[in-house]
Amino acid sequence: MLQYPNLEQALKYHFGYDNFRPGQRKIIEDALQNRDLLVVMPTGGGKSLCFQLPALMKKGLTVVVSPLIALMQDQVEALRNNNISATFLNSSLNPYQVRSREEAILNGKVRLLYVAPERLMSERFLPFLDLVNHQVGISTFAIDEAHCVSEWGHDFRPEYRQLRSLRSRYPNVPTIALTATATERVRSDIIQQIGLKQPSIHIASFNRQNLYYEVRPKTKYAYAELLELIRETEGAVIVYCLTRKKVDELTFKLQNDKVSVLPYHAGLTDEERSNNQTRFIRDDARVMVATIAFGMGINKPDVRLVIHFDIPRNLESYYQESGRAGRDGEPSRCTIFFSFGDIKTIEWSINQKTDAQEQLIAKQQLRQMIDYAEGTDCRRTIQLSYFGERFLGNCNNCDNCRHPKPVEDWTIEAMKFLSCVARCKERFGMLHIIDVLRGAKNQKITQYEHDKLSTYGIGKDKSVDEWRMLGRSLLHQGLLEQTSDGYSVLKLNAHSWEVMRRQRKVEIAVSTTPKVSLMEDIPKAAEAEELLYKLRSLRKQLADEQSVPPYVIFHDSTLKLMAQVQPKTLVEFGKLSGVGSHKLAQYGEKFLAEIRAYREAKNSVSSAVDVIPSLSLISGTELQTLHLHQQGLSVAEIAKQRKLSPATIVGHLARLIEKNQPVDLNQIVPLEHHQKIWQVLEVLGDIPLTPLKEQLGTAYTFDEIRLVKEKWRQEKRK
Ligand code: ADP
Ligand code: ZN
Repeated sequence: MLQYPNLEQALKYHFGYDNFRPGQRKIIEDALQNRDLLVVMPTGGGKSLCFQLPALMKKGLTVVVSPLIALMQDQVEALRNNNISATFLNSSLNPYQVRSREEAILNGKVRLLYVAPERLMSERFLPFLDLVNHQVGISTFAIDEAHCVSEWGHDFRPEYRQLRSLRSRYPNVPTIALTATATERVRSDIIQQIGLKQPSIHIASFNRQNLYYEVRPKTKYAYAELLELIRETEGAVIVYCLTRKKVDELTFKLQNDKVSVLPYHAGLTDEERSNNQTRFIRDDARVMVATIAFGMGINKPDVRLVIHFDIPRNLESYYQESGRAGRDGEPSRCTIFFSFGDIKTIEWSINQKTDAQEQLIAKQQLRQMIDYAEGTDCRRTIQLSYFGERFLGNCNNCDNCRHPKPVEDWTIEAMKFLSCVARCKERFGMLHIIDVLRGAKNQKITQYEHDKLSTYGIGKDKSVDEWRMLGRSLLHQGLLEQTSDGYSVLKLNAHSWEVMRRQRKVEIAVSTTPKVSLMEDIPKAAEAEELLYKLRSLRKQLADEQSVPPYVIFHDSTLKLMAQVQPKTLVEFGKLSGVGSHKLAQYGEKFLAEIRAYREAKNSVSSAVDVIPSLSLISGTELQTLHLHQQGLSVAEIAKQRKLSPATIVGHLARLIEKNQPVDLNQIVPLEHHQKIWQVLEVLGDIPLTPLKEQLGTAYTFDEIRLVKEKWRQEKRK
């Protein structure tokens, strides 16, 4: 066994990472002490490493229990690419393959074995496991997706229940249970059902700092906005819709708009689904439009945007689904398009449920989802409070924090609201309280004689929506509570009384009427975009040669580092985070050669630029594009020749126009389009692309509009 001076060095050697993610180090230390462990980390937190690194540092075989074939294959591929000997046994293998893998295990050649619970616990397999234990030793059982053991989780699997007998069969082998499910109930279920012995419990924060959360009103511009979001995103996108029909419709529309897109839902054959999934994971298709059937067991770490084109059913599933963005820790975006029409559809389907209790719970969950979508507080505060985590807000990475709605002092209104809750004896939900405040006349009010209360009708000056906004904000700020039995009865707490005694001010963010919100940039590092594009192509080529997804070769974050640092030697290359010993040997030279070629091409161009001082503001790459444009090449042709994306070329042309360079628009945009776009600009002025496109219709492309708009701006500046 290799000895490492410290854990960081072991991490760098095997996985290439410089630092542990929060929590990982402590967990690994405990694992090396052979303790039982419960690890609760959000998706993307880096759970796998918590048993993978110890597996390499301890004697014997680590047995990983995993529920899905796709998950196993994925992890094993990634491990092998770091030259770590891992293997899986499942139903996809023929008897010969199984035999040879079993032999390798018995010969001590395998560090990690992935296996499904039903196989692990089968009559035939257990004697083999005994043999393994006898010959090479079992170092640990790692139970991935451990929430599958609980009926209270979202993904109960009865086979997981049998895992308990492992504890009596191998009492000295420590067990690590891992999950991303946040609820208390599931956690204690896991400990009991698996039989963890005095486990060391690690619960990481569920705050995913790299995700930008936003909610947009689903207006008639929604599709155009969606398209713009997808176009401006570099990398993989998942769009969730509520029904198969909507998935098919949206896929069709996007295909029409030349987006590289595939559908995924239960109506497709197994083969179609698995094909589409593989193509998405390998970056052969960029966008997946799907029902929630898609995603379980997808480990793709470089999804950059998750859109819910219809509102999700509840906050827990929203957290899990949106959490599929940015597992690699890179900035990514999560967008919901929200409309009351969708709510009506979901309400209708809830009303079809026959079980009254289920119906009640579904309604409450939907209400919480609406609260989130309509909320004016930090989106993280709302989400994390749902998981019992307190977050103070001001995350600066959600729409409400980046564009706060104006804050107003609503102490008086809050006092009215809370005392109305008190007068109604804390036995009613929000809608009834608002009815009382606004002096409504309905049966419930007369029945309870609430029209006789002193708070009856004292809130006529505010609309139902305004009162609801206040009520919600009181809940999010913890100044009021709500029961979770399905009835959402409002309850006062100590803070509520402070407000009523005028000991506490209440400020709320006031939302104005919804306007079309437009795309804004998630800040991007100013890196060499062009080099990055080239490195991506090289990565894709290497991945295809080995039939693995590109991220198995290097993560996006590592490619970005390469483009920024531009290492010159293998030693420098090896220092990048994400480059371990094996990948350095395997890929180092190839990527270095690409970087070198790029730098040389760049130098020859920039020395040419230096000769013409007046052009010095123009970058070398823009100049190359201009040159080819002047030779009469189309955008697509320039892109092809320069091995860059068409979007990048259009970007160059736009900047060239801005810098008053001789770009001939007639060569790119048909004359009547040019004129029409110009006319619309004259009328509507300098407004963003989405509403312009909406005005112009689908015959006009974003690229055309962007270029004509740049020219128009240039004219106006003169
Ligand atoms: P989870 O199972 O918790 O969703 P994974 O184990 O799949 O998360 O890890 C998510 C991603 O983060 C993986 O691609 C993994 O390679 C990467 N990762 C894990 N630990 C680190 C680390 N210490 N530094 C950088 N990246 C890491
Ligand atoms: Zn925020």
